[in-house]
Amino acid sequence: MLKLLYNKKASAALANLSVGGRLPHAILFEGPQGCGKKLAADIAAQYALCEGEQKPCGVCSQCVKVERHTHPDLRYFTVPAGKKEFPIDLVRQLRQEAYIAPNEGCCKVYVIDQAHAMNASAQNALLKIIEEPPAHARFILLCENRSMMLPTILSRVTAIELELPTVEQCAQALASLRPQNSPEERQAAASGAGGNIGRALSLLETGKPARAMADAKKLCELLIFADRYQPLEILAGYDKDREGLLAMLPLLKGMFAQIAVSHYAKTGRDERVCNRVTPAQALDAAQAVEAAVRQAGQNVNIPLLCALMVERAKQALH
Ligand SMILES: [Zn+2]
Repeated sequence: MLKLLYNKKASAALANLSVGGRLPHAILFEGPQGCGKKLAADIAAQYALCEGEQKPCGVCSQCVKVERHTHPDLRYFTVPAGKKEFPIDLVRQLRQEAYIAPNEGCCKVYVIDQAHAMNASAQNALLKIIEEPPAHARFILLCENRSMMLPTILSRVTAIELELPTVEQCAQALASLRPQNSPEERQAAASGAGGNIGRALSLLETGKPARAMADAKKLCELLIFADRYQPLEILAGYDKDREGLLAMLPLLKGMFAQIAVSHYAKTGRDERVCNRVTPAQALDAAQAVEAAVRQAGQNVNIPLLCALMVERAKQALH
């Protein structure tokens, strides 16, 4: 069953709109890349096409086809690969199609992705069909920022705002979306992507979170037992990879916090580490890493913030 995990306000707004069994003919979902606009569009399409009692039921053939993206009456339009603008020709094609009757559904749903990438002429072309839509047509516009849409378009759509989840909410969402990845990898992907679920999913494809996990383990060991040079050598691999660094550092911070806690645990403590590091030292080191995470998020020069972090962590662990 499709569900907007962390956009409860938007879910409620959508449910409200569908009271009476009929969605407005044009909805606009607004929010940053990766906040779940496409998922929201699929849910809205289910509201529009579902044949169940409680819409969307998620189990009728209409709902299932929407979820699998095989419904003949659900059409997606987006910026073609390699292009930056949403071409006006595509809007004209959509307009022609919109007059064709549905195949099997009660209506036809047109999802218009990256609507913000339309120039004024393309938006005006779209306006014509949204102003006087065929009775069976529903339009779902997805855009990153409504200020990029013409006021005339905005006056014809019902706008719903979507928000990015927090890093923690993103990690929780990944647990159900990517159970095959380890919790550490999911945490790394969520941190690296700053909570953006779409971005975190593509990060998991790259193998970066697995590398972040391995590097964090090595760094933790080296910061405790080695000199300053060896941790800096590993960190040099992140000089041009802020996203990778943001994926890795929270894991490192978690490891130091874990060391502090493990002092009081009856089982599972690493004696070698516990004999070398006190809980207070481990917490100080975790704070040094936390400061670096904040700086990494604020565009501070990476080699500099890594050098500072190593220095502070080594002092804490001295
Ligand atoms: Zn259904």
